[in-house]
Amino acid sequence: MLYDVTRTLTPCTAVFPGDTPVTITPTAQMRAGGSCNVTAITMSAHAGTHVDAPRHYSDDGAGIEAVPLDVLIGPARVISLGMAGAITTADLQRALRPARPATDAGYAPLPARLLIHTCASDIADDVWDAGFAWFTPEAADWLGVHGLRLIGTDAPSVDPANSKDLPAHKAFLRHGVIIVENLCLRDVPDDDYELIALPLKIADNDAGPARVVLRR
Ligand SMILES: [Zn+2]
Repeated sequence: MLYDVTRTLTPCTAVFPGDTPVTITPTAQMRAGGSCNVTAITMSAHAGTHVDAPRHYSDDGAGIEAVPLDVLIGPARVISLGMAGAITTADLQRALRPARPATDAGYAPLPARLLIHTCASDIADDVWDAGFAWFTPEAADWLGVHGLRLIGTDAPSVDPANSKDLPAHKAFLRHGVIIVENLCLRDVPDDDYELIALPLKIADNDAGPARVVLRR
């Protein structure tokens, strides 16, 4: 079974206030006498479902073309927090506990890829809502320390909408955790899946729009 957890790009796709909207412009049209249909697209690399490259928050960070494919494809767990506001370490521990019982070391190894399902999945593709769930830097650190390689969220960012210093982005970066944003996890049951999240291969770029799929 396949779940498409990608938001659909349209000229109405909601973007961060001030960011470049999506435009899709026909440059050749068969109904206008052209031999085929062709469009030109302009958009922010962070519009819709996308993968952030380390370059997004560090000039020295890798571009999206250099993010390893073995991070972007592999086992992943979906957990529902159904919340807005700060996601704390305690929230994550609570959500992960039933599936990963505590050991002497605290928690058993976490999944390498974790997708967080919040109320943002119920927000339409064309609606901007700044009240999404974000991670405290401590929560991001806790995930990184426990070996996470990829974090996915249905929210537009892992930091609050008005954050300028992006502490959760930077905490994930410190641990080499790749961030996927603007997923749509509506109708996806909490479970373990195979994640396939492939961003466009754009040289030295800060992000790449991606088609993201979960396979059971
Ligand atoms: Zn982004």
